[in-house]
Amino acid sequence: MSRHFDYLSIGAGSGGIASANRAAIRGASAAVIEAKAVGGTCVNVGCVPKKVMWYGAHIAEALKYAPSYGFEVEQKGYDWGTLVKNREAYIERIHGGYKRGFEGNGVEYIEGFATFVDKNTVEVNGERITADHITIAVGGRPTVPDLPGAEHGIDSDGFFALTEQPKKAVVVGAGYIAVEIAGVFHALGTDTHLLVRQDRPLRDFERSVIDSLLTRMEQDGGPTLHTYSEVKKVDKNDDGTLCITTLNDEIVDQVDCLVWAIGREPTTDKINLAAAGVEADKQGYIQVDQYQNTNVDGIYAVGDITGAAQLTPVAIKAGRLLAERLFNKDMPDAHMDFSLIPTIVFSHPPIGTIGMTEVDAVEHYGADDVKVYDSGFAAMYNAVTPHRALSHFKLVCAGSDEKVVGLHGIGEGMDEILQGFAVAMKMGATKADFDATVALHPTSAEEFVTMR
Ligand code: NDP
Repeated sequence: MSRHFDYLSIGAGSGGIASANRAAIRGASAAVIEAKAVGGTCVNVGCVPKKVMWYGAHIAEALKYAPSYGFEVEQKGYDWGTLVKNREAYIERIHGGYKRGFEGNGVEYIEGFATFVDKNTVEVNGERITADHITIAVGGRPTVPDLPGAEHGIDSDGFFALTEQPKKAVVVGAGYIAVEIAGVFHALGTDTHLLVRQDRPLRDFERSVIDSLLTRMEQDGGPTLHTYSEVKKVDKNDDGTLCITTLNDEIVDQVDCLVWAIGREPTTDKINLAAAGVEADKQGYIQVDQYQNTNVDGIYAVGDITGAAQLTPVAIKAGRLLAERLFNKDMPDAHMDFSLIPTIVFSHPPIGTIGMTEVDAVEHYGADDVKVYDSGFAAMYNAVTPHRALSHFKLVCAGSDEKVVGLHGIGEGMDEILQGFAVAMKMGATKADFDATVALHPTSAEEFVTMR
């Protein structure tokens, strides 16, 4: 038995789903193949469960502020399992939504693990399926280090599988995932240690914003940051807890939960790329041009598997634009613009960033052509509590017209503030345009249009 489709996505994550739905909407016969759960990393072990956990942490913070707002609150306990149960039920509903979406659009959803047979054929569950256009959207998986005792740790997938809250946790890594997981653990009451191998986490982000994050972590009593702490080995104690030793012989002992968050790697190793002639780089990322074309005609790649801007909305946009280019005769040049991609780290409080850091801008334009505007202020939300903490917003402008080329911030609400400013920057807004905008008062966002 064999079926043929105009368009086939291997992987039903953000990019695969978006591209197959759009292909079907444009009249193509389309299918997606998924080996695990529909929705991929984002829905199952990424953005969605992470944001739910972050909201949980947010409520813990609100409880801390509650007495200053007059509430007499007695917190009797915290049940991590309840949050996980409700989160998973929510994710189950999202799965249903995706499947109904496929049905509505006429996309065939096939469960199974696909491997290439040739450039137009894959095999799944013993069946050969052919397609004129095949997109590889298989995403990535967490990297686990190769060191003694590493197997005692879990990765971010394991974090989401936790049904009980650890008393003491170590998170190793310095990127989004490490900062976000450590923040959730700490806010919910776990004694949390963040081990970074350099001087700080999020080293590519605007330095002064990360300085503010580190100050906030200190003020909040955690997560406890351990700098220049690269793990040498992990030992299991008799009581089942872990003892972590770093290269500089620092020891973190009696750890209930160790999470590796040292990056992610592509999952191209098992899909038999060679049979289709698709080339990947040394790490396994598939190289694509600006149209998501691989080196093989009719085979494309979108999302994390390309290694570029590993963010859900990027995969979705790239996937949809690919489908438009292939099946919408009015959009033959459709392709993703990778400039000025806004992104949020769901730390506590969140960090938002778009465009160049001050360092990038000085390198790109020269120091004389860069002007920076900065604002540190106490957000009203916690200013009325003993937990008063500074938010920090920053604009990086370039050229004589002071075009806004970078916008960065850490503070309550930053996650919701950024999107609108991303539109303005995409339209080429200058500092004068920001200044000409009437402020919204009282908000944190108004700082961006009132900086002097
Ligand atoms: P990242 O690649 O962002 O960060 C991992 C960092 O860990 C490295 O940059 C490195 O930092 C450090 N590291 C690497 N190896 C080791 C090691 N052996 N020991 C200790 N530290 C190490 O990976 P993440 O897994 O955090 O995230 C992957 C991608 O997923 C991100 O790039 C992002 O695009 C996406 N993502 C986005 C989110 C969002 O939008 N909110 C949330 C989560 C993920 P250093 O060199 O400083 O040591």
